[in-house]
Amino acid sequence: MKTPLSKKTKFIFITGGVLSSLGKGLAAASIGSLLESRGMTVTFQKLDPYINVDPGTMNPFQHGEVYVTNDGAETDLDMGHYERYTDALMGQVNNYTSGRIYYSVIMKERRGEYLGGTVQVIPHITDEIKAAVLQLDGMADVAIIEIGGTVGDIEGLPFIEAIRQLRADLTKDYSLFIHLTLVPYIKTAGEVKTKPTQHSVKELLASGIQPDILMCRTEAPLQDDMKKKIALFCNVEPESVISAIDVENIYEVPLSLRKEGVDDRILEKLGIWTGAPNMKPWEDLVYKIKHPKHEVTIGITGKYVDLTESYKSLHEALVHGGIDNNTKVNLEYISADDLEDGCDLNSLVGCDGILVPGGFGSRGMEGKIRAIRYARENNVPFLGICLGMQLAVVEFARNIAGIPKAHSVEFDLTTPDPLIYLMTEWFDFRTGKMETRDENSDMGGTLRLGAYPCVLVEETNAMLAYGVPEISERHRHRYEFNNAYRERLEKAGMLVSGTSPDGSLVEIVELKDHPWFLGCQFHPEFQSKPMRPHPLFSAFIKAALEQKKA
Ligand code: GLN
Repeated sequence: MKTPLSKKTKFIFITGGVLSSLGKGLAAASIGSLLESRGMTVTFQKLDPYINVDPGTMNPFQHGEVYVTNDGAETDLDMGHYERYTDALMGQVNNYTSGRIYYSVIMKERRGEYLGGTVQVIPHITDEIKAAVLQLDGMADVAIIEIGGTVGDIEGLPFIEAIRQLRADLTKDYSLFIHLTLVPYIKTAGEVKTKPTQHSVKELLASGIQPDILMCRTEAPLQDDMKKKIALFCNVEPESVISAIDVENIYEVPLSLRKEGVDDRILEKLGIWTGAPNMKPWEDLVYKIKHPKHEVTIGITGKYVDLTESYKSLHEALVHGGIDNNTKVNLEYISADDLEDGCDLNSLVGCDGILVPGGFGSRGMEGKIRAIRYARENNVPFLGICLGMQLAVVEFARNIAGIPKAHSVEFDLTTPDPLIYLMTEWFDFRTGKMETRDENSDMGGTLRLGAYPCVLVEETNAMLAYGVPEISERHRHRYEFNNAYRERLEKAGMLVSGTSPDGSLVEIVELKDHPWFLGCQFHPEFQSKPMRPHPLFSAFIKAALEQKKA
């Protein structure tokens, strides 16, 4: 296979060993941020070994949130880390699963593209993986490729084999292997143990990969003698054994890795010369996080409350909104099931702001509507995202605009008043075409996905927050605000403060007689970064803070 080497992009491959959940995504994102701090450009790719073609149909309860990119890709939540820690923009090319790779190979086989040859894991699947990786060639100075799962997993083998081959294609000057392992502290022995790391590196060696740098997750920094021991057993230099210590806050990771000099090692091995990194923005950020002046409690009423991973970006965006206001944000996850009719609403009483996030399916839906009503009637700042916005519209229609049977057709197909409905025809700004769909359309195909423009109305909370007349935000939903009811709701005191440029799609609603009540059809959380908190989250936290003081 020919390597289209631009002689620009250097590739870093990150594998994981011992066990999952060591924070490979955060490590990759942090390395990206360190390289950016030295003035380099970075991009990322996550290779996920599972068979699902993309995470779009996966239950967030099992797999964490589905992260949506500008170009409408439904991706792994690690894309969120990459975008939050760096300026890199993720999209379709940045996330591949085994399923997507196999799908593409099988389609080629069906089209006869292999000319009757036997189609095999090596070379056909591995070539497909290599081609996917090499798409990033030329896109940035450094491409950081994260291999999902743990070395030794059966399903990850083709990926490991592909990156082994890529080392030869790219040469040592253009590729680097980083392996993330665990060095546990064993209480009964009173010492840290290197054996799991040794075994994990052996496993990697058996696949033909010698790591260049080892990043060891530990509770406390590894002493020099430990580093030497690991280095000796794993064929790396002691300086290339990096302690990746547990930190209090995830935004400390770049600083902590910088202290260990991981970026120096990377640049040295890849033969890149740059000046010292500017870590001031990260230092200031961590200082701000650790020294808040105020505190607010935000109640989040959702379905996946047991697994905060399923609201990863939302959680982070709220923290960012807090940083912008020098405020520590306490998140109170409240199961919407516990707010259904007949339950008391005590759990909402201590909240300075209430947020109803996006979601699919009817479970907990009436509980969410009760939470919205509580926020509206008690002047509690409210942010409704996607489903949260749709339910805010339903609540207002039922209880204020005199439409008691108002509903979303997602939950009641035969409702006489479908406030939220399935648009059958609309002009799509992204494709530049009229699009159509109906109830029988394929579930996957009917979602409005990715970034869409939205124009804001003067003198609204939305406009105040953003400070610009036109914005672009990411969507992931099937249903829309029904314009047939727009006038009635507006007469009753609902304000449409953001629409698609042609005015046909309602994107943001607010309430006139309320300190801060805003629902948006899009997901602002996907564009919030610690260094650039999203305007709506900043404004929401500010409103909650003011409400608390009042
Ligand atoms: N279930 C709603 C829809 O499909 C909202 C989706 C969401 O909140 N992301 O329109």
